[in-house]
Amino acid sequence: MRYWNRIGTGLWLCALLWVAGVLCAQGLDIESRYSPLNRQRSPRRSTEYIILHTTEGGGRGSLEKLRRYGEAHYMVDVDGKVTRIIQRDRIAFHAGRSMWDGKTNIDNISIGIEIVGYHDKPITARQIEAVRELLRQLKSIYKIPDNRILPHSMVAYGRPNRWHSVSHRGRKRCGMLLARDDVRRQLGLSGKPSFDPDVRSGRLVVADPYLNTVLYTVVPVAQPSAGQDSLSMIARGRSAWDIARENFNSPTTVYIFPDGTRRRGDQITDWNRMPPGTRVEVGSEGAEQSSDVERVQVIGRDGTTAAEIAGAAITRESTIYFLKDGSVKQGSELSAEGLMNLPDGTGMLVGYVHGGIIRANRRAFDICGPRWNLPTTFYRMPDGTIRSGPEMNERNIPLGTMVFFQP
Ligand SMILES: [Zn+2]
Repeated sequence: MRYWNRIGTGLWLCALLWVAGVLCAQGLDIESRYSPLNRQRSPRRSTEYIILHTTEGGGRGSLEKLRRYGEAHYMVDVDGKVTRIIQRDRIAFHAGRSMWDGKTNIDNISIGIEIVGYHDKPITARQIEAVRELLRQLKSIYKIPDNRILPHSMVAYGRPNRWHSVSHRGRKRCGMLLARDDVRRQLGLSGKPSFDPDVRSGRLVVADPYLNTVLYTVVPVAQPSAGQDSLSMIARGRSAWDIARENFNSPTTVYIFPDGTRRRGDQITDWNRMPPGTRVEVGSEGAEQSSDVERVQVIGRDGTTAAEIAGAAITRESTIYFLKDGSVKQGSELSAEGLMNLPDGTGMLVGYVHGGIIRANRRAFDICGPRWNLPTTFYRMPDGTIRSGPEMNERNIPLGTMVFFQP
């Protein structure tokens, strides 16, 4: 009897040691603090990529913002502590306007990890350790090869705008250093894409040559040399976009003119007359994602003309106009004269599919599939208001609502 007891105790001890061993081998200091939006997020149907971000702000502010908007699956703080924000099998909105190898809306097919830090500064040893272990676990669960673990800046792309007449890579530099070979080796990653498939195929052009060399060459070219101060100053050959990227007209970007007056990005309309020497302060705590929030562009606020907002896409079918008379038109439906004379307040979406109208037998999912609740999908309600995907409940979208989504 006693003998069997001893064996029993021994088995228990073994089991305990085994469990402890497994826990230690996993070695992650991880905690769930799910976003209030977690339960509303749709399950992800496939997982082909892991996207690595840098928060561009401190841990506390970033975590609060990421949780509030459900903008990542995980955040890795400077001390290596990992927080779960959205369950890994649901969709998190972390990549914004994105494309890789012709696939868009990468949120639908990826996991997003936010690393507290900056795109051009080394992350901590504890973060390296934690990200390495987190990636090891996710890779084994989802069978994702290393060349599909990509920094956000590799997959983000920008719509045409006043500075770039066509869609372009270089919308942001998020996670840039995570493309460097030495950093990837530390993270246990071997291999990365050797070129940008969307640039090679002509779907996108390179708008940030420096970023491009960091992402795809072994020895990146040096960033244009200049003091930190003059790098954030508008000059010949250095526009507001070069400094602030798509945050150029965001309320969190502040312009300090040579005469000392200050203006927020959303208060400026005449971008062609920004005086050289204007200093640009971009973003605030945890502001990494602000340019990822897709919204309807408005003539008079985001540009003085349609061409300033849509560049060469002004006449395309994929540019949608919300006219003041309540009608909705595609660029291809408007005359050259009509396009020239659009009044202030006209709304625009650039790079969109006009999915048509919700009917009794044609629901949002039938129109755009799992994109229906993405923040990049827009609904024009019968009363004329426009809402984005996360604001919608698929079961009670009024009949007659129009749906617009990114292809
Ligand atoms: Zn990012």
